[in-house]
Amino acid sequence: MVCFCMYAKYIKIMSNENITTIHEFEFNLICEFFSGMNRQGPGSPEVTLKALSFIDNLTGQSRIADLGCGTGGQTMVLAQHTPGHITGLDLFPDFINIFNRNAEQLGLQDRVKGIVGSMDNLPFEKEEIDLIWSEGAIYNIGFERGLNEWRKYLKTGGYIAVSETSWFTEERPAEIHEYWIKHCPEVDTISNKLAQIQKAGYIPVASFILPENCWTENYFDPAVRVQEMFLDKYKGNEIAEKFVALQRYDAEIYRKYKEFYGYVFYIAKKIGQ
Ligand code: SAH
Repeated sequence: MVCFCMYAKYIKIMSNENITTIHEFEFNLICEFFSGMNRQGPGSPEVTLKALSFIDNLTGQSRIADLGCGTGGQTMVLAQHTPGHITGLDLFPDFINIFNRNAEQLGLQDRVKGIVGSMDNLPFEKEEIDLIWSEGAIYNIGFERGLNEWRKYLKTGGYIAVSETSWFTEERPAEIHEYWIKHCPEVDTISNKLAQIQKAGYIPVASFILPENCWTENYFDPAVRVQEMFLDKYKGNEIAEKFVALQRYDAEIYRKYKEFYGYVFYIAKKIGQ
């Protein structure tokens, strides 16, 4: 998804009456929609494994945290290619239920556990974690804030691997610039993101742009099928219809401006205490 927070904000703007009920309804709606998808954001198993290839020193004792794990598409790939224990954390209980069911189906339940929680209040000890993973989710806390706040949970020499929307060029058409700044104001160039990583006390080990199929084949295409089912189920419901319309607009914007922005994976190593 382009930006989870964006859907939530957008729906909230549309529904200024009866905020409590609609608030609940909007979150259930978003949740139901994305529960029907294998991934809740652009990515692929190949990309997860490529990012993982830059990380060394993982053992059977390693502790890994996947923050904003969703239903765990990328977590299960990680688990099948790393030793150690993985905790997936997400705000939505429905995603975590699906996550734990997936882990069990793959026989990973002894090493992979999903918990409900918020990335701005993590239930970990200081310097407990060897690897923090977060695909398409750090924007929920903010890129710089996440880098700074999560750092204390990492051991010295531990890694952080996150994917985040970034500008590919110094300049870009006004339409795409304004679209992103409005919804996710932290979007920035790759070089500025790397500078933020260094400033937060990490060595940037690698960064790479996610290929287009992460957005098309793995995200927008499967979303089309869920959108159709959704419109059928919620026929005449204004919020559901606007939500789908916004998603379709996202896909259109991506096709039009994909050379100017996309997800970038950043892999970095904690130095110092
Ligand atoms: N990593 C998954 C999901 C990305 S979508 C994937 O790549 O497929 C972003 C996820 O962040 C959603 O699952 C959403 O529920 C979660 N999220 C949003 N705010 C959060 C918060 N404050 N704490 C934890 N998770 C959060």
